[in-house]
Amino acid sequence: MLEIKAQIENLRDEIRKHEYQYYVLDDPLVSDAEYDALVRELTRLEKKYPELVSLDSPTQRVGGKALEVLQPVRHRSTLLSLDNAFSLADLHDFDRRIKKVDDSSGYMAELKIDGLTVALIYEDGILIRAATRGDGTIGEDVTLNVRTIKSIPLRLKQPLPRLEVRGEVYLPKNDFVRLNQEREERGERVFANPRNAAAGSLRQQDPGVTAGRALAAFIYDITYIEGVAIETQQETLAFLLAQGFPVNQEASYCENIEEVYDYCQRFEERRHTLPYEIDGVVVKLNPFGPRQELGQTAKSPRWAIAYKFLAEEKETRLLDIEINVGRTGIIAPTAIMEPVSLAGTTVSRASLHNFDLIKDKDIRLGDLVLLHKAGDIIPEIIRPLPEKRNGDEQIIMPPENCPVCASRAVRFDGEVALRCENINCPARLKESLIFFASRPAMDIEGMGPALVEQLVERGLVGEIADIYSLHGEALAKIERMGSKSAQNIINAIEASKKRPLHRLLTALGIRHIGAKTARILTREINNLEDFYQVTEEQLLNISEVGPKMADSLLSFFAESRNRAGLERLKLAGLNMSEENDDTGEQPLSGKTFVLSGAMKAMGRQEASEKIEALGGKTSGSVSKKTSYLLLGDEPGSKYDKAVQLGVTIMQEDEFLALLQKYGK
Ligand code: NAD
Repeated sequence: MLEIKAQIENLRDEIRKHEYQYYVLDDPLVSDAEYDALVRELTRLEKKYPELVSLDSPTQRVGGKALEVLQPVRHRSTLLSLDNAFSLADLHDFDRRIKKVDDSSGYMAELKIDGLTVALIYEDGILIRAATRGDGTIGEDVTLNVRTIKSIPLRLKQPLPRLEVRGEVYLPKNDFVRLNQEREERGERVFANPRNAAAGSLRQQDPGVTAGRALAAFIYDITYIEGVAIETQQETLAFLLAQGFPVNQEASYCENIEEVYDYCQRFEERRHTLPYEIDGVVVKLNPFGPRQELGQTAKSPRWAIAYKFLAEEKETRLLDIEINVGRTGIIAPTAIMEPVSLAGTTVSRASLHNFDLIKDKDIRLGDLVLLHKAGDIIPEIIRPLPEKRNGDEQIIMPPENCPVCASRAVRFDGEVALRCENINCPARLKESLIFFASRPAMDIEGMGPALVEQLVERGLVGEIADIYSLHGEALAKIERMGSKSAQNIINAIEASKKRPLHRLLTALGIRHIGAKTARILTREINNLEDFYQVTEEQLLNISEVGPKMADSLLSFFAESRNRAGLERLKLAGLNMSEENDDTGEQPLSGKTFVLSGAMKAMGRQEASEKIEALGGKTSGSVSKKTSYLLLGDEPGSKYDKAVQLGVTIMQEDEFLALLQKYGK
């Protein structure tokens, strides 16, 4: 018995650890199927030894916990979890229990969307509060974030005095793939699945982050309503739809449990063709009347059950590791495996994202590995199967050099990615060129992605400096380019040679060195060659330059391939210095501008550049330190704040006159 007790405690600890990773950190360590298997084993043992059930067991409570950075919200009624069914037999058991109370009603079968629950409150038809489930009793206030989800109505069709609903916020599969690609390109950790990506996107302090993610929602439940009588789940869905909520249209009324099972099987087959991920079917007794009598356990209602689909996981062998360099220079490993058929396709490759992941999961060359598809699309190695090793497996080490150009592979503090820093590395050349020619950088009009693609593909440009030896004839041969446009581009390239150093520094695309930092740096270090010798101490002495920036700059200039590339740019006749005012005093030195509203004569970027060119600074928010609020059309709240703080308001024509006075 002691042994069983210890086994149960171990299982509980293991499950609690996974729940914390999954619900609080949105970063699971194991697949849902593996987690479910642990819970099933614990449930089995607790059933067999009921005297060992304790109130704090994960089987007795809804898993989850509110993040402390978000405001807590107490739910009017607990948001429960659902009991699981894995077979027709489980569905029959559920049906038998229901029949004891109601032997004539049917069920609603709804897709179990793999996202996270939200509870929404409307007053007089207006969305006033949105919260996550949390531990079921206390959730997190995510009202501002939910307001950015376009499919959730901010106003109902009818101004009902009070309505509380629940639903699922999710990230469509394609957006999940895109988000992970972007994160990988930025050297950030990728999300394990769309559910974690949705949760990570919603549970944010900054609603701007949520707004930038393509979250969507389906609403499926009314938990409180005044003045309208709704008696079945079918009526609920129809009412929600009529109020303007997104309601999943695959939900279906089923006369009996066999029909429910048919529905489950149909969608188990179709799941890969849906644009969002589902992990099962939620089966709900249709009439509300018997719900009270059926009641609930500590964790889930007795009138509903989740039929879970079989997890699609396969074993295969890891044959090789291919190392690729992405278009932004990120060096990432890809697993090459013995082909297996998985969730509708044959899979032989899976991105391993970064070398930390290989180390954390202890994946070795030659291992048998467990494979699934994250978000139903992206093949992913869940873990190796060390119990099946024969001793010939080899540990995988990160490369020291870029596999394409052999420059040093660099890893910055706080990042998981390895990077190739050579701006002329063939793998990154197109991206380097597009950025080099972009507006905040060298501003070469006409040299956008389409032209860059042609230049590189036709072998006209093999490194950045080659653009300065392009001639009109070669350019004119490019599809759809007449001799006039070719000449315009040559002129634009020529004109870029005179740009000040801060633009060239920006154009190099050095990590953490954007246009603003480049300007700060070139005020102190006004010759490119001086950057070759600069020390960390010197850099850190410049206000606004932090250790990450310094580290990145030093690493960039330490790469001999970069210095050689810059020498070629110098030979091509590029300006390598910044003409600073010797006294350091410029007309707008010490003045801070805040821009509010749209200007007629120029965009924000241009206005900021001109202010900075005259020695001034720009800021995104108004404070007592603001010198001027530059007023455009339809100014926002910044204007009100400026008036309140007595900040001087500058009209657009005054600003233009000022620029003219100083020749800008
Ligand atoms: P659950 O499986 O118990 O189901 C309840 C949830 O289903 C509801 O909260 C709701 O958000 C959702 N849902 C989706 N569509 C619905 C619909 N039409 N009607 C009603 N509800 C609907 O979910 P849970 O309690 O959040 O957590 C259990 C799940 O989380 C399991 O799938 C489990 O595998 C996974 N999990 C995984 C890990 C891990 O480490 N991988 C850890 C913890 C939990």
